[in-house]
Amino acid sequence: MLYSQLFPKAKKTAPKDAESANAKYLVQGGFVHQEMAGVYSWLPLGLRVLTKVENIIREEMNALGAQELLMPALQPKENWQTTKRWEGFEVLFKLKSKIGGEAALGPTHEEIITPLVGAYINSYNDLPLALYQIQNKYRDELRVKAGVLRGREFGMKDLYSFHKDEKDLEDYYERVAKSYLKIFKRCGLDAVRVRATGGAFSKFSDEFQVITPSGEDTIYYCDKCKIHYNSELVKDGKCTEGHKLEKGEKAVEVGNIFKLKTKFSDAFDLKFLDKDGKEKRVIMGCYGIGTTRLVGTIVEINHDDKGIIWPEEVVPYNMHLLALFGKDEKMVKKISTACLSFLRKQESGGVEVLFDDRTDVSAGEKFAVADLLGISERIVISEKTLANNSIEIKNRQTGKTKMEKL
Ligand code: ATP
Ligand code: MG
Repeated sequence: MLYSQLFPKAKKTAPKDAESANAKYLVQGGFVHQEMAGVYSWLPLGLRVLTKVENIIREEMNALGAQELLMPALQPKENWQTTKRWEGFEVLFKLKSKIGGEAALGPTHEEIITPLVGAYINSYNDLPLALYQIQNKYRDELRVKAGVLRGREFGMKDLYSFHKDEKDLEDYYERVAKSYLKIFKRCGLDAVRVRATGGAFSKFSDEFQVITPSGEDTIYYCDKCKIHYNSELVKDGKCTEGHKLEKGEKAVEVGNIFKLKTKFSDAFDLKFLDKDGKEKRVIMGCYGIGTTRLVGTIVEINHDDKGIIWPEEVVPYNMHLLALFGKDEKMVKKISTACLSFLRKQESGGVEVLFDDRTDVSAGEKFAVADLLGISERIVISEKTLANNSIEIKNRQTGKTKMEKL
């Protein structure tokens, strides 16, 4: 990809109101564009990162035997009345149709998936079943911050599992928890599993939190239980088992998994015929990851004062090639030819290259853009490197530079 063609270019200065690293660098680098409070467009560079994150999640969901589907954002009011969440879901967006009736903009999809699965499954032979989607969610959040950590429209992977008994749900739930830690690791994050309240569904749920000062949540580690607790489960500085806790740490919730049990299968009368010939309620679990929040969290953890430092698996491009042309016309031609042949060789080997081919920009400016965009491998081809028939390679993670023969 030629940087001269890329929409849009990085801005010279960071947005004034940026309160966090993700708001600052994602906007300045041209990864995202704010449309209104809590609503962003994902621009070509940002979409490449988001797609890589989504594909890591897809791979791990498929490895769990889950199948991908896509459900609508527009959801019938009646389904939300069935679960008593039309009034009960605080941040639900409600729409009136011109042809009559009302609908919800989906903040989550239990109200769709439960009756949907009910339309197709009959017996224990159809279970277990796991279905997921990666889709935009809508929540009329009261407090949105600049940046993609908390949006009113945001990306989520939501997985739903259906089981014939609680034991099967427990086993699958633990497999998903393991898979989540792997996903976050692949995204360059050390997430911790945190015990949290189970909401209206069960006693506990598990959150996956990344410790960072920019997080909104506070989590506490219990030395005796050897687990982290969410602040909702901490009273008077003690965990649910009565142990005294250390000081809390700020963290971002990147995932949350729940044992729903029969909460939604009761509401929608989701049943199956068991081996013993008896009708039973399907046991359910649900498992979310905030995909756009995850990208924001990656930036919160992986940046310095010059810009982003993308972890290897989620880089927008593998390589950032900078041509430093100088003024001499002959040299400009020579450097350009060397760059294009290097680019072709890399691309035919499957390497994704962003090539800063601009002729009207100083070396300093190109370096600053490279640091801001945060691609791991920066390659420089200039008069100096060509004098040794070489390229200069700099690693954004380590800052180390080396020369290599062309
Ligand atoms: P929070 O406590 O941060 O409001 P939540 O507990 O209401 O989130 P869940 O219903 O558990 O969110 O949604 C699953 C995941 O979706 C969360 O773990 C989080 O990563 C992501 N998510 C939730 N709300 C938002 C939001 N407003 N903007 C971006 N991501 C979000
Ligand atoms: Mg949650």
